[in-house]
Amino acid sequence: CGIVGYTGFQDAYNIVINGLRRLEYRGYDSAGIVLDTPGGSFQVAKTKGKVDDLVQVSTELDKTAHVGMGHTRWATHGVPSDRNSHPHISNSGKIALVHNGIIENYDTIKTMLLEKGYSFQSETDTEVLVNLIEYFMEINRDFDFPTAVRFALNEVYGAYAITVMHDDYPGLLVVARLGSPLAIGLGTKEYFIASDASPFVEFTKEAIYLEEGHMATISLEKGVEIRTIVDNSVIIPEVQQLKL
Ligand code: GLU
Repeated sequence: CGIVGYTGFQDAYNIVINGLRRLEYRGYDSAGIVLDTPGGSFQVAKTKGKVDDLVQVSTELDKTAHVGMGHTRWATHGVPSDRNSHPHISNSGKIALVHNGIIENYDTIKTMLLEKGYSFQSETDTEVLVNLIEYFMEINRDFDFPTAVRFALNEVYGAYAITVMHDDYPGLLVVARLGSPLAIGLGTKEYFIASDASPFVEFTKEAIYLEEGHMATISLEKGVEIRTIVDNSVIIPEVQQLKL
């Protein structure tokens, strides 16, 4: 299972698909991708099967988009299927999320969200998290997107590496980890995200390995800003020089 994300000037589709291939050794049963095109809404393709199958169902995607993320799934909650594949999209269609790991208390949160009128397209634990983020933005009008992600993460138990995008925040990727790895590649006017550095080592030798309990906002405008999930303390990251 794996995650790849990109924001920059190159075609995100190629970077994500090639990156997912580099992570194939980790094992998976399904694959998916979401692209953010300027002025448009999210474009999603996902399928049970291999990255080659994902390419087959991606013919309609705008391959010139400069922002996107992809996922390979190792199913824990919900059988391997097209519907249960990531990315998962919130009820409004505005938030997209990919996740490796397990949300242990997804059932309790799902019950709460169902009572609030949310509906679910999949049997996954992951879809609960994307709608919880949306719920926090809905009930707290002063919450921006990263704040809502942080509050949602403070409600969940389990293990995760996630990448989240919001349609109203073009070019911004929000990432977080607890118990699953995530690396950020620092390029010139571009940033990469991946479960390990192999998807981006051909583009940059500088990386930040996100630490346990940390989240980051990544955008061309503001760069990489890291904070703790539990109390929003600012973290000064250590930049590693890759030797790969
Ligand atoms: N628990 C999630 C699911 O079953 C993510 C699995 C993974 O790590 O790929 O969809």
